Amino acid sequence: MTHHHQFDAVIVGAGGAGLMAALQAARLTNVAVISKMYPTRSHTGTAQGGIAAPLGNMEEDHWEWYMYDTVKGGDYLVDQDAAEILARESVEAIYELEHMGLPFDRTQEGRIEQRRFGGHTREYGKGPVMRSCKSADRTGHMILQTLYQNCIKHNVRFFDEFFVADVLVHEGVARGVVAVEIATGELHLFHAKAVLLASGGFGRMFAVTSNAHSLTGEPVAALYRRGLPLEDMEFFQFHPTGIYKMGILLSEAARGEGGVLLNGRGERFLENYAPTLMDLAPRDMLSRFIYQEVAAGRGVDGKDYVHLDIRPETINRYGSAPGGRTVTAAELEEKLPDIIEMMRVYMGVEPMREPVPIQPTAHYAMGGIPTDNDGRVLAGPTRTVSGLYAAGECACVSVHGANRLGTNSLVDLVVFGRRGGKALGEFCRRADYAPLPPRAEAEAQGALDELRASRGGERVATLRSELQRVMMDKVGVFRKAAGMREALSAVRGLKERYTQIGLDDRGAAFNTDLLEAFELGALLDLAEVTAASALQRTESRGAHYRDDFPERDDTHWLKHTFAYRSEGGDVRPTRGEVRFETKPVVVTRFEPKPRTY
Ligand SMILES: Cc1cc2nc3c(=O)[nH]c(=O)nc-3n(C[C@H](O)[C@H](O)[C@H](O)COP(=O)(O)OP(=O)(O)OC[C@H]3O[C@@H](n4cnc5c(N)ncnc54)[C@H](O)[C@@H]3O)c2cc1C
Repeated sequence: MTHHHQFDAVIVGAGGAGLMAALQAARLTNVAVISKMYPTRSHTGTAQGGIAAPLGNMEEDHWEWYMYDTVKGGDYLVDQDAAEILARESVEAIYELEHMGLPFDRTQEGRIEQRRFGGHTREYGKGPVMRSCKSADRTGHMILQTLYQNCIKHNVRFFDEFFVADVLVHEGVARGVVAVEIATGELHLFHAKAVLLASGGFGRMFAVTSNAHSLTGEPVAALYRRGLPLEDMEFFQFHPTGIYKMGILLSEAARGEGGVLLNGRGERFLENYAPTLMDLAPRDMLSRFIYQEVAAGRGVDGKDYVHLDIRPETINRYGSAPGGRTVTAAELEEKLPDIIEMMRVYMGVEPMREPVPIQPTAHYAMGGIPTDNDGRVLAGPTRTVSGLYAAGECACVSVHGANRLGTNSLVDLVVFGRRGGKALGEFCRRADYAPLPPRAEAEAQGALDELRASRGGERVATLRSELQRVMMDKVGVFRKAAGMREALSAVRGLKERYTQIGLDDRGAAFNTDLLEAFELGALLDLAEVTAASALQRTESRGAHYRDDFPERDDTHWLKHTFAYRSEGGDVRPTRGEVRFETKPVVVTRFEPKPRTY
């Protein structure tokens, strides 16, 4: 039996982007938010470091400096009209969060306190600037709680633990979504005037990742399967400081407060790579530098990791705290409580007395569902889909270009979540319901039934770990043609084997076996697009670094990738090749220059 619902606006995802959009739209129309997790468990809640805005509370700062850093950090693949919106509207968005009740840290004068973060500079690159607003190292948690409370206050209707399997886009018009109620296994059809996707990242395609288990990208894959493009999927950011082997993130905030990276000889090796910004150079570069140190035999004990050192005596010896101040253990414990706790709990080290083993971890999807500056989803380089919106990490505005700066995702969520939510609400006031095609849920139902009944010999967990390994090894920080071809053919092989899986649980209630199988299907599609997009871009830019094409090539590649499935258009994992188009990058104020720090 299928349950039917009708809401003017349906939002998929209850992270920062989904909740911000819901809040804006709820002022104009009726809104349902569907989330496969309880809203406040969304990944936004784990963001430790902070949220950027050039408030200038601690030292001089300007939106133009911030825009410049964002464009340069993104290795000039950023659309500069979008970056200008981000830089200007970030200030308003922060004050709006403050007025909603978000408990930001304060200066003694009562202003919002700010700290330094990688790639954020004063005067167009002269030195680090304090731009990140924060609530200790629990900024994302506070954003999520604040937005959720405000959504409740504005009567947003929540469908928690509903798993969206299909997004209904028919003849170029969005009409709703199909979801499984996880507790019962029953299908729900949501008919809507407009849909906004805010399903977050999909870092679970990599073996070592900071991303939560839930970040598997079904709604993104659903659009791709329905024939819509995905933009710049070759750009996946590796964060330099994941806990060794586990990938759990140790936020850049640790370095913002003075922490330094040391190689196996105890040397501050970044002096040789990024003499101006050192430990606060952008993430794509730091991840590469760490690998290079390890490759040169200077990892710790000859192994594939280096140290993050936040011992007060180390910070004081290097004078690496903001302004060269002297720091104490008590001060660090107050500013970085969760990070220090994670080092103790997960790594079993005492960071006030010893350095912590770290290695790069797959962290953030710069690419995703292409949108315009109001969150409207693009059907091609110049066309939009009526009634379809996206915001947050699943979307590509593109404000992060080839590499995102730290603290710029949370700003992206609130600035473009807000714009998308407003545009969605206004659209719903003007538009009528487009009719649903007959038996709109039938395809999703068919795909799920097939999975539930599958009795083949392949195991979901095995296929998933093979996928994660090959993506990590061949489409990670360093890439080259032969490896990417291997990865692509491995992913296609895994897609074949995916048709032969067998599930143990055939029940309806809480069938996580079934949902994990569905998630793997999405990851396989998205990994294929990532590898194929990386292979066709014959240059190095931002997080996409190729040994065989080590230079950035603005003559041929100052453009975005749009990847499409080559044939068909149903809800199941795709078959066949990936087809490409390109879209020019919007350059307004800053002409591309070499990126040095
Ligand atoms: C450990 C960590 C620390 C970070 N720290 C920072 C930081 O300090 N500053 C910063 O700017 N950025 C940070 N980031 C990045 C940033 O937190 C994320 O990019 C951002 O929070 C994503 O928000 P979102 O709203 O797009 O999605 P998320 O918060 O990931 O939420 C996704 C939502 O979609 C729902 N969903 C997904 N699939 C489905 C489906 N099939 N059906 C129904 N619902 C679905 C989920 O239930 C969830 O509610 C960090 C990321 C990580 C992983």
